[in-house]
Amino acid sequence: MNAQVEAGAVIPLPPVTMSSAGTWCTDGVGFRRFGKFETDLAVDFAVPNRAALTTRVLELCVVDPESLLPPRHFTELSIGQRIECLLLLAVGGWEKALSLVFECQGCGEDLELDLTVKELAEAQREADHIETVGLDLEGRRIEFRKPTGRDQEVWAGTVFRDELDAAERMVSSLAITPEFPSTLGRTSIREIERIFEDADPLVNFSCRVRCGECDRLNDYRVDLMETALAMLSRMQTQLIHAIHRMATHYHWSEADVLAVPEWRRQQYLQLIGATKK
Ligand SMILES: [Zn+2]
Repeated sequence: MNAQVEAGAVIPLPPVTMSSAGTWCTDGVGFRRFGKFETDLAVDFAVPNRAALTTRVLELCVVDPESLLPPRHFTELSIGQRIECLLLLAVGGWEKALSLVFECQGCGEDLELDLTVKELAEAQREADHIETVGLDLEGRRIEFRKPTGRDQEVWAGTVFRDELDAAERMVSSLAITPEFPSTLGRTSIREIERIFEDADPLVNFSCRVRCGECDRLNDYRVDLMETALAMLSRMQTQLIHAIHRMATHYHWSEADVLAVPEWRRQQYLQLIGATKK
């Protein structure tokens, strides 16, 4: 894969500090763009295990010629750090913006909000300093670690009785205080969830947008992971459309089209567009 990545096309990875491994140098490590290569066509974006899908896309696009990253790097990141990586890949660079469109709850006007990955990453860098969160429960201080991609993947593959059972078992698996009470009750669960949200702001991301028409302040929740996955899925669809157009026009096979470098594919597509006018 590395040989296919054109010079300058690699997006640098977010800086990562993890207590277990210290800080490592990630010079030359980055993401190549998704939706350009044959392997990108093999990703099924409809799979129910979204955590495993996220890991798969990140591992597929990482460029690490000197193997600087530790094994299972993306699985061990916090959920917020994984979302940051996924957004970087979906948007295509640090300075590029994620465009969100909302409907004003007052007048129905379309509201647009552009957030660069750099801006979103600032919130993540602050959250990176928090490694454990805690709360007082029945007079005892209980500490929890932040969930990682590994936790996310395990939970996605677990069958829970109901929502409370799911929340209790997820929270219990994160407790680092020994002899942690197994039944928590809804109030404690909600409290713990709120603490986790503050410690990982990209997970349940919320934003406030003022409407220019009616001056109303609107609060929105955005699932950034699903937003990024939907953008990546559209890139895959664009590649399929490009293959279809070239295959139809030149009578090439899928493999023939994919063997043509991306920059030349764009030229062929322009020529096809020009002849159809
Ligand atoms: Zn409005």
